[in-house]
Amino acid sequence: MTAGISNEIADVVVIGGGVTGLSTALALAQSGVRNVVVLERSAVGSGGTGKSSGVVRCHYGVKSLAAMAWRSLPILRDAPDILGESAGFHETGYLVGVGENNLGALAANVAMQQSVGIDVEIIDHHQAQELWPKARLDDFAGFAYEPRAGYGDGHQTAMAFAGAARSLGVRIRQQISVASLLVEGGRVAGVTLSDGGTINAPEVVVASGVWSKALLGPLGIELAIRAQRAPILLVEPGEELGAVPVLSDLVSLQYVRMEGTASLLVGNSDHSDPDWADPDDYMNHADDDELLGAAAKFEHRFPGLGGAKVASTYAGCYDVTPDYNPVISGTPYEGLWVCAGFSGHGYKISPAVGRLMADLVLDGKSGDPDIDPEDFRLERFADNRLLLSPHPYVGAGSMR
Ligand SMILES: Cc1cc2nc3c(=O)[nH]c(=O)nc-3n(C[C@H](O)[C@H](O)[C@H](O)COP(=O)(O)OP(=O)(O)OC[C@H]3O[C@@H](n4cnc5c(N)ncnc54)[C@H](O)[C@@H]3O)c2cc1C
Repeated sequence: MTAGISNEIADVVVIGGGVTGLSTALALAQSGVRNVVVLERSAVGSGGTGKSSGVVRCHYGVKSLAAMAWRSLPILRDAPDILGESAGFHETGYLVGVGENNLGALAANVAMQQSVGIDVEIIDHHQAQELWPKARLDDFAGFAYEPRAGYGDGHQTAMAFAGAARSLGVRIRQQISVASLLVEGGRVAGVTLSDGGTINAPEVVVASGVWSKALLGPLGIELAIRAQRAPILLVEPGEELGAVPVLSDLVSLQYVRMEGTASLLVGNSDHSDPDWADPDDYMNHADDDELLGAAAKFEHRFPGLGGAKVASTYAGCYDVTPDYNPVISGTPYEGLWVCAGFSGHGYKISPAVGRLMADLVLDGKSGDPDIDPEDFRLERFADNRLLLSPHPYVGAGSMR
């Protein structure tokens, strides 16, 4: 065996081995594309995917995103049958609670979600309390509940996509970085690699999360993505909680889900003062202020859990666009695609995102009437036509 610099060809090169790139590669292979290569600079799932809280809910205000989450849910849930490996999915249900000022938005969003077939209903305080007996709910004015939602595991899901893609012939090369994108005239021609090699390809999908901006910039393509640090707490509740659903608390702006059988994972939903960070050099734990802020919100919501203790903390980075929604789009260069900027909510929609990206590469259009690719155009930022929920939640930013 000899080692050397390779010059290869592929039908499609996908840059990035997170859930987005791997789901795209799988969908391409399922559509019959034979020579797909995924290039990952580190290891599969080592980016935002490996830090994901994995919450799976269909509670969006944008119809395309709600439909994507709903199409994705059975794939994540039934991954052992569909992908051949588990996505670590737990069907706990999802409870979202809002204050008085957001009751109108809740009703409008739930009506839209039901119109695309999502199993969700408005429930009252009594029903919510039965679902979360230990939570204080008196400052919520209304709730919606999705019984089929829950949470999965980002890393397991990436591995499941990778396994299914490999079984259809996709090559996944890890520890190899794309150095630059090759273009000729008005179209993409392939990529150059960190080892000096090249791969020539007529189609290239940039699915490199927060690092996508650096690949596109040299071509004059402005991709407005920033890294927003997101601290996560793992909490020992100090007592048995039973089978509780994921809780989106849109009054205190936090989310809480079980982590295994005995711990809680607690995340922040307040994006009013983002901590913009360097995605390659950020503080990988919660600082004292973050701990105090999170503890105050937790104690307010769970006053009965006096024995709760923070067991550990870590942080990840969201790849945030100006409207907190992804870019799934062509570019000014024919054959060059962007699938990035999932802004902290790309796990739950990743199966449908891969399908949409593959459909755009192969047919130039969405195969799903409820998922409008115009929503995710790269040009929307320059055109000042941001993708915003028609019924946003006051105080909760644009992530729903
Ligand atoms: C703390 C946290 C909590 C989250 N919680 C949720 C949640 O509850 N629910 C939800 O739906 N979503 C959640 N998300 C968001 C979700 O995890 C992400 O949107 C999703 O995982 C992004 O996947 P990706 O494949 O687009 O990007 P990434 O996973 O970041 O993958 C991009 C990959 O590209 C590789 N790469 C970069 N540059 C190059 C290069 N030049 N050459 C080759 N490879 C390259 C990177 O190494 C990386 O592996 C959360 C994210 C974080 C950080």
